[in-house]
Amino acid sequence: MSALDLVIASCLADYDPNALPVDSAKTIIREFLSPVTSRERVALRTALGRVLGEDLLSTIDVPAHNNSAMDGYAVRASDLHADGPTQLRRIGNAFAGRAFAGTMGAGECVRVMTGAVMPLGADTVVVQEVTREAGGMVIIPPGQKAGENMRFAGEDLALGKLALPAGKLIRPAELGLIASLGIGEVAVKRRLRVAFFSTGDELASIGQPLAEGQVYDSNRYTLHGMLTRLGCEVIDMGVVRDDPASLESALLDAAANADAVITSGGVSVGEADFIRSLLARLGDVVFWKIAMRPGRPMAFGRIGHGPDAARFFGLPGNPVAVMVTFYAFVRDALLTMAGRTDAFALPRLQVASRTALRKKPGRTEYQRGIVEQDSNGKWSARLTGQQGSGVLRSMSEANCLIVLEHERGDVAPGDLVTVQMFEGLV
Ligand code: AMP
Ligand code: MG
Repeated sequence: MSALDLVIASCLADYDPNALPVDSAKTIIREFLSPVTSRERVALRTALGRVLGEDLLSTIDVPAHNNSAMDGYAVRASDLHADGPTQLRRIGNAFAGRAFAGTMGAGECVRVMTGAVMPLGADTVVVQEVTREAGGMVIIPPGQKAGENMRFAGEDLALGKLALPAGKLIRPAELGLIASLGIGEVAVKRRLRVAFFSTGDELASIGQPLAEGQVYDSNRYTLHGMLTRLGCEVIDMGVVRDDPASLESALLDAAANADAVITSGGVSVGEADFIRSLLARLGDVVFWKIAMRPGRPMAFGRIGHGPDAARFFGLPGNPVAVMVTFYAFVRDALLTMAGRTDAFALPRLQVASRTALRKKPGRTEYQRGIVEQDSNGKWSARLTGQQGSGVLRSMSEANCLIVLEHERGDVAPGDLVTVQMFEGLV
């Protein structure tokens, strides 16, 4: 029994490789992932889209000083009358980047702009809109709250405290946050290296004429796109013929150069047999029939032995099935391997289905959908049309996957369905 078989046996008593539920496959895959450890230092802008390699402690207080959150007057709360207006003498101004030099005493106030350092002696800011100023005197109405309209030193990031944890994706917010600490260079985890190739005697590459019975290899392009967007370093190994010697050398080559190897095609019944025996020799791979549609056949395991063995994902050949299995299994696995520790699961939302959907209980279905808003402002989902697993147009027209869960049966119009949106914020 291989190590993979042992884990499968231990984590799933009812494991059935002929109808493996999606969630069970995810659980098994998760047991077999190890994150990259090596790191590199890069200039801050270059870190966009990378995974933070170290805990980042705050080297300063942000903001560095107590300052005003509004345009108004800095006052002493103890001067203000609760039951009537208060008159204070204005003794100066403070601007962002230009502080008031003196100290405020009783009965005094300072005009402050947003971001100005709080004058010494002041503890509250009264917004300009409620005040009146005449002849150097400022009238403050009753009802002000002590300490309001101020930002406190360190309230965003406190000196010495954790600013960002290792494993966090660096998005625009993190770029700005790191910049707010004055840090210009960060350690990021090295990019995950992913090698992939397509298998199939019927595949032609772009630039070749199509002979009878051939199709252009599109899977390598969708994979290139999905992997690149995930932040991986991609190694595109082209098309490999359905012949054991070529497949063996391609798999060994891929595993030697990459953390993960992805193939498309060649895992369905009838085709899988020689790949199966090949992989049994080269590593540790299981072939599954997943209870899902599209994307039923899939293989997972390792090529090579030992902790550095490349993880292997053998995806089906059909172009839609490649994308659906990638989003269902491979995406999260690769993000774990890339060292992400933040919450990266794609959110799933519930919206009403515009139409009836046919669905057989006992498998998870991923239908290609469009979520849109009607004239009443209500969001609902509909299908893109033809749902065949070879119809890549269905993915291109879609803005979401409608995920019909394992146990679920037919959907009536108006029923809530789960959707996974394709696009997020930039
Ligand atoms: P397979 O899983 O190898 O039996 O392939 C299933 C279907 O997907 C067949 O119709 C193949 O021609 C098609 N297919 C396989 N690989 C690719 C590819 N790289 N690009 C486009 N279609 C493919
Ligand atoms: Mg094939």
